Amino acid sequence: MRLFEYQSKKIFSQYGIPITRGRLTSVAGEAKHIAEELGGSVVIKAQVLVNGRGRAGGIRLAKNPEEAEQHALAVLGMEIKDHKVRKVLVDEAVSIAREIYVALIMDRSSRKPVLIASPEGGTYIEEFALQSPEKIIKIELDPLIGLCDYQAREIATSIDLPKQHWSEFVAILAGLWKVFWDNDATLAEINPLVISEDQRMFALDCKLLVDDNSYFRHPEFAELLDSDLLMPLDPAVRKLGISYFRLDGNIGCISNGTGLAMSIMDTLDLFGGKAANFLDLVGGANSNNVEGALSIVLEDPNVKSVLINIFGGLTHCDEAAKGIMQFLGHYKPAVPIIIRLSGTRSGEGLGLLKDSNLLIAETFVGGIQMAIAAAEGDLNEHFS
Ligand code: GDP
Ligand code: MN
Repeated sequence: MRLFEYQSKKIFSQYGIPITRGRLTSVAGEAKHIAEELGGSVVIKAQVLVNGRGRAGGIRLAKNPEEAEQHALAVLGMEIKDHKVRKVLVDEAVSIAREIYVALIMDRSSRKPVLIASPEGGTYIEEFALQSPEKIIKIELDPLIGLCDYQAREIATSIDLPKQHWSEFVAILAGLWKVFWDNDATLAEINPLVISEDQRMFALDCKLLVDDNSYFRHPEFAELLDSDLLMPLDPAVRKLGISYFRLDGNIGCISNGTGLAMSIMDTLDLFGGKAANFLDLVGGANSNNVEGALSIVLEDPNVKSVLINIFGGLTHCDEAAKGIMQFLGHYKPAVPIIIRLSGTRSGEGLGLLKDSNLLIAETFVGGIQMAIAAAEGDLNEHFS
């Protein structure tokens, strides 16, 4: 998961990395007031989860509050690489004397964290790296030791950083390491890290990518997801730990294991049906995961039938059945639900379902055919 700049900056600053003052808004008029508060001269920054905002016109310097409002008006609603700008960060402007690039990445080939630095940073970092690859410094780090001060000083020397900035630079890199490590990041980047005309240092743009496999350790990231951006259902889905993607068909699908979920979609397609979603409960799902998955699938108004196909392994069929019954305990679905349970504790699971009016499928293909027929309204007599 990639965090927005404003979210990343908040985290970076908690680790002592100096950032400029700023506030988020989705209203151009408010940008004017924020600019007034911040002393007039600000930068309007589009909050989108793609690279190259600056070049696309999503970063604009405003000399006064009136200009801040105009720029915010222009940037809000802009499309940057298919991402609509819904919020802008109004940040105190800095007079820049020098731009530097520093980042920590989890390098898959060396299987280590690697610190990357460049004496020149900013919007044209990619071109600079291509033209002067010898100026890009990389240091492989031992994950158990982390970043040592001597390594930070080595970087300071390599990028010709004036001595007066060394101690601050070393502290910023120490903070960057902690941001990276504590948050299970795959990337923690500052570009640009600037030295201002008045010789202060600021992280003007911060980027944090978090390893999706570490969510179980970071409940706080589920809260950070901006619900009106990208995937509206994401926070609920993330909390459940399931994989869910909405598609444009009308048959809701719930199953466990990516392979099974994909074969259901393929087989639906083969028999002329169309999946409304992909949903993988992932291994070891409990009744609450199943209950939550059902409510997420049924939130989609296009869903005309639901096929639940559980192959019991790590996931126990009776847990799944319990989840379904929990759901039915407080919600009466308007569409037919077809269930196939097979594998670990399927007998117990089917036993739990026997008094419900759910449709039980004996086979994989049988379930597929029932789901398609139900979505087309051909099974309606079962539900009168
Ligand atoms: P990116 O295009 O998404 O990387 O956006 P950045 O936040 O990195 O900003 C791009 C460029 O805009 C920076 O490299 C700076 O040159 C410029 N910029 C950003 N903030 C300021 C600022 O406060 N003052 C000035 N003068 N330039 C800025
Ligand atoms: Mn940047």
